[in-house]
Parts: sequence; structure tokens; C-alpha cells
Amino acid sequence: MELPIEARKRISAAKRVAVLTGAGISAASGIPTFRGSGGLWNGFRPEELATPQAYAQNPQKVWEWYAWRYAQVMQANPNRAHRLLAQLERQKRDGFLLVTQNVDGLHARAGSVRMVELHGSIGRARCEVCSTHFPLPDPAVFVPPPQCPACSARARPDVVWFGERLPKGAFERAEAAFSRAEVALVVGTSAQVEPAASLGRVAGWAGAYLIEVNPDRTPLTPHADLHLPLEAVEGLEALLGPP
Ligand code: NAD
Ligand code: ZN
Repeated sequence: MELPIEARKRISAAKRVAVLTGAGISAASGIPTFRGSGGLWNGFRPEELATPQAYAQNPQKVWEWYAWRYAQVMQANPNRAHRLLAQLERQKRDGFLLVTQNVDGLHARAGSVRMVELHGSIGRARCEVCSTHFPLPDPAVFVPPPQCPACSARARPDVVWFGERLPKGAFERAEAAFSRAEVALVVGTSAQVEPAASLGRVAGWAGAYLIEVNPDRTPLTPHADLHLPLEAVEGLEALLGPP
């Protein structure tokens, strides 16, 4: 493939870069996306399980789904796309922010630090009564639901469900970075879950050079200066890898 020369120049010249990632960046690590093939679990759609209503009706079933996903994530490893973004952070330092919708923790395991996890983490739980956050036990011994270490009440997954608010300050921090970025890079997200989906548009309106990496078109595609119709690993290799 021919290298996207203009985008590579913009990225290397930029002092401020903001990146948004979604489930697509972890597909090459073997973690299925919600939308698209492989998104089902025992015949349930994620939209039917990742909600406060589903949890209120059947906490055990929702926890079993999370325990299954947690075990899957802990067996997976970060891929080249996660690593290229960690490397970009080291180049841009405090001019860089990575915003992820993923709950799989793979960015952190690849070395990313300047990061906002908009939707929480699948490796943590949060007490339903006193809101204490704590890490889940090793997947090999974890039996859901977990109990709060502080008050022994039942804890829920420490993730943001459909219809819930984002963690305090998380979106504000993300929006600030996207509205100031010279280059904004959106990778592997269907751009259907708000408000995360709006970040790319915000950057575009503020004059950033907006790059989207996604094998499919999304609602963001018409706003992008460059759409690379590639998988995350190939797309980021073309943008950030050695020439
Ligand atoms: P999504 O499932 O809605 O969309 C995935 C997108 O990735 C699609 O647009 C698809 O075309 C694209 N894609 C598929 N394979 C790709 C690849 N190899 N490279 C690049 N792109 C690829 O995911 P979303 O937009 O992140 O939003 C859904 C919600 O699902 C989020 O809230 C997130 O918390 C949750 N989720 C997280 C994980 C995870 O942590 N890995 C996995 C599934 C869902
Ligand atoms: Zn508690």
C-alpha cells in the first residue's frame, strides 16, 4: 500500500495529538467487537446485557457474561496497534491524550499512560452500596458476583452501561484534548455510542486534521480528512510505522 504521506507529515509535525479508540483496535488481539460478527454471547446481544435494567433483572447472568469477557481479556495480549499508540505517546509527551471506549485494559498493558478510559474497566468492580472500587480476583479463581472488601455488599462491574453517565470529568478531559488537537485519530469505533462519537466531530470543527481508521464507513467518515479503510494494525502501521 502507498503510505499516506500527508497524514504522516501532519502527525510528525503536530504538537498536540488526540486519539480515540474503540473495540476494533482489540479485534486483532482476539477480543470480539459488539457490532459485527462474533458479537453474540449465548444468543444475547450486548445491548441486552450491558444495561442497568438487565443487571437489575438478572445480576447473575450479567456477571457471568462479564466474568467470561474478563477471562478472555486476561488471556489476550496487546497487539501492534496498541503498541504503536504507546510509542506515539512517548514522542508527543504532554501533547498527547488517548481516549478509549474499551474496557479491556490492553492499552495500559501496551504501555499507554496518558489515557482516559471512558467506559471503565472490565478488571474492576464497584460496590453497589459504598462505591468502593476494587480489582477482580484472578480469572482462574473468580466466581461472580464479587463482594465488597469494605462492607461485604454485592459489587457490580466497574463499567459504564448503555444509558449511564460517564465517570466524572472523563468526558471533559477528552473533549478538551480533542478541541485543541492539531491531529485527531479515530480508530476502530463504530461512532454510534455518544458522547464518545462526538469527539471526532469536535476536533474536525476546531480545525484538526481528522483521520479515521476503520475497514467500514461510519457516521464520522464524511467528516474525516482521511479515511483509511484498513484494520487497526495495518492502518496504524501505515500512519505511524517506519517509512
Ligand atoms: P463497536 O463494536 O460498536 O464497533 C467496532 C468498530 O470497529 C466497527 O465500526 C468495526 O467496523 C470496526 N472494526 C472491526 N474490526 C476492526 C479492525 N480489525 N480494525 C479496526 N476497526 C475494526 O465498538 P465501539 O465503537 O468501541 O463501541 C461499543 C461499546 O462496546 C463501547 O462502549 C465499549 O466499551 C464496548 N466494547 C469494548 C470492547 C473492548 O474493550 N475490547 C469490546 C467490545 C465492546
Ligand atoms: Zn461496599
